[in-house]
Order: sequence, then C-alpha cells, then structure tokens
Amino acid sequence: MNDLSCERVTKKFGHFTAVSEVSLDVPSGAFFSILGPSGCGKTTLMRMIAGFETPSSGDIRIKGESVLGLPPNRRNVKMVFQHLALFPMMNVGENIAYGLRCRGDARSGIAEKVARVLDRVGLPGVEEKRIEQLSGGQKQRIAIARCMVLEPDVLLLDEPLGALDLKLREHMKIELKQLQHQFETTFLYITHDQSEALVMSDQVAVMNAGRFEQIGSPRELYDRPVSGFVAGFVGDANCFPGKIAEIRSGEARVELPQGGDVIGKLCDGSRTGDDVEVFLRPEALHLGAGGAGQSLEGKVDSLLFNGANSRILMRASTGQLLEVAIPAEAPAVAEGDAATVNWRPDHALIFARRAG
Ligand code: ATP
Repeated sequence: MNDLSCERVTKKFGHFTAVSEVSLDVPSGAFFSILGPSGCGKTTLMRMIAGFETPSSGDIRIKGESVLGLPPNRRNVKMVFQHLALFPMMNVGENIAYGLRCRGDARSGIAEKVARVLDRVGLPGVEEKRIEQLSGGQKQRIAIARCMVLEPDVLLLDEPLGALDLKLREHMKIELKQLQHQFETTFLYITHDQSEALVMSDQVAVMNAGRFEQIGSPRELYDRPVSGFVAGFVGDANCFPGKIAEIRSGEARVELPQGGDVIGKLCDGSRTGDDVEVFLRPEALHLGAGGAGQSLEGKVDSLLFNGANSRILMRASTGQLLEVAIPAEAPAVAEGDAATVNWRPDHALIFARRAG
C-alpha cells in the first residue's frame, strides 16, 4: 500500500516549468527524501502535495485517493517548515493542542493526547514551558509533535534542519530517523544536503531542473548512479573531463586533455569520440601502484586530516587534482612527495559530459 503517489505531476508558472512529469510512490511507513540543488522544484512539489499549489497536470493520491481539488485542511498530511512556525505567544502544550482544538476534538481528551505525544518525542512534562525556553533540538521535536498529534498519513518536512548549527544537525539526523521509526508514519523529506538524505532515507529521489533523475535506496544511488548529475551530487566524487578513444565490452578508454588515459565503466550510451566525464570516488582510490589495473602518478598536494574521513589531495601528472581517502592513522606520505594512486577500472564511472 502506498501512502503517497504522484503521477506525472507538472507545475508551470507562466512559461516556466518548475516541476515536470514527476512520478513517485511512497510505501506506507517509509522515510522518503527528495534531494536536489536549490531551485530544482522540491518545495513546489511539496506544496502541491500539501495543497498550497495546484498542479498544472498530473495526479496526487494519498492512501490511494486523489486529493486534487481538496484544500490543505482536508488532506491528511501535515508539514514541518524550516523555521518550524511554532507560536511564540503560546506555551508548548498550547502549541500542540492548537491543531486538535481547530479540528474540534473534545476538550476532555486533548491534555492526554498532548501528554502522550510529548512522551513519544522524548520530552515528557514540558507542557508549561515557553517556546523560547527550548533548545534548537527541542523546538524541532515540538514542531514534529505538533504535527504527529494529528496522526497524519504523511508528514512533509521542508528542510527542517536547515536553520540548525552543524553539530546539532548531525545529531538531529539520527534523532529524526528514530522518531520516524517510532511513529511508523510515512515521512517525505526535502533537502539539498546529500548526507542528510543518505543517512535518513529508505528511498531517495534525486531531482534536477524539475525532473527526477533517479529514485533508489541510498546505496543504489551511490553505487549505481544512472547519470553524471547523480554521480556528482550523491556522495563525493573526483570528476574530470575526457574524450572516448575506444569502447570494448562495456568499458571505455578515455583520453585526458593533457595526455594519458583512463579506462572505466561506460554507464550510458556515449560513443567513441564523445565528450564524457569520469567519476572516481575518493574511497575507490588507493595509494601505491597496486595491481588493480589502473593508476596515475603524481605528487601529494596536501593532507586533509579529518579523523576517519581524512583525505590526500594529489596532483596527477596529467593535471587532475584527485581526492584520495586514507585511513585515520598517519599517512606514510608528506606534502610534496611523489605518489601513485590505483583503482579498479569498474570503479571509474563514465557518463556523457553535462551541459555547462
Ligand atoms: P530551494 O531549495 O532553494 O528552496 P527548491 O528546489 O525548493 O529550491 P522551488 O522553490 O520549488 O525550488 O522553485 C523551483 C523554481 O520555481 C525556481 O526557479 C523558482 O524561482 C520557481 N518558482 C517557485 N514558485 C514560483 C512562483 N510562485 N512563481 C514563479 N516561479 C516560481
């Protein structure tokens, strides 16, 4: 059973198409993210699902029923905004009770429902607190509690972590995922931050210029991107241009602009002579000549220590600056040292060169 489906949903503003023929099915209880750069149409799509915008064409179904024509308050979806939109003049309990009152719930049951939802978000007994007394993370949880008390079929979250500092954002990623598991409610989350989408989601739709480029699990998107846009946007990747010199059984030999060549996996219909981009994940690169098949020589440009995510920047003799993942232990190389990196040819992904 899908809690939410979009079928070829399009939104035009005058001659400009903000969302183009987008289709998705979100199974019941899934954490589904829409990931894309600023201006790609994420918010417009979410506003259509919530009922704040009308699609130019296509259909939106919640629990199998079309909601086209229904105003926002008649769709059983709730939305958490980036700035949370909590009412500063009301205390926590009143904030959460507000939606229940507007819905006409019996007064007698409201306090119990508020207490129960506060318990579930891990903040029991804070009904009397004022909003300004809460930390950033607590405000997030209250904003979610205020929606979840109304038991929506789908909770829409529009970049809710965007206003938090980095440390709290890292913590809230894990907390949001745990809350979603606990409520067993379908979450539709929009973000331009690939690490948020990868960490939290069961499924991610990668959006670019109003269209979905790929829908898949975080691992599928990372391991098997279907386009250069997805390969470059999801996870870190070294990306450099070249031209296909030869194609043989799914592999292409790409000539690099400053001489030399690399062999990699041809991931689309590019042909001999076409301009392409080669994508190599930092963790697919290994220091040393190796026996993996492909290598480039160069010089260590700099060491970037970041615990388990430490990197070396290596300037290859063919001109490319390559980011190479290294273990947290001190590397056996220093800035200025000669170095060689190697990789398996099937870990170099080759796609047609993107416009611009
Ligand atoms: P961000 O992450 O920056 O919020 P987004 O991916 O959510 O971006 P949208 O806000 O959906 O993008 O906007 C998509 C495109 O549609 C943008 O080019 C935007 O200028 C345009 N757009 C959005 N709303 C309107 C509107 N009411 N009238 C005209 N153009 C609009």
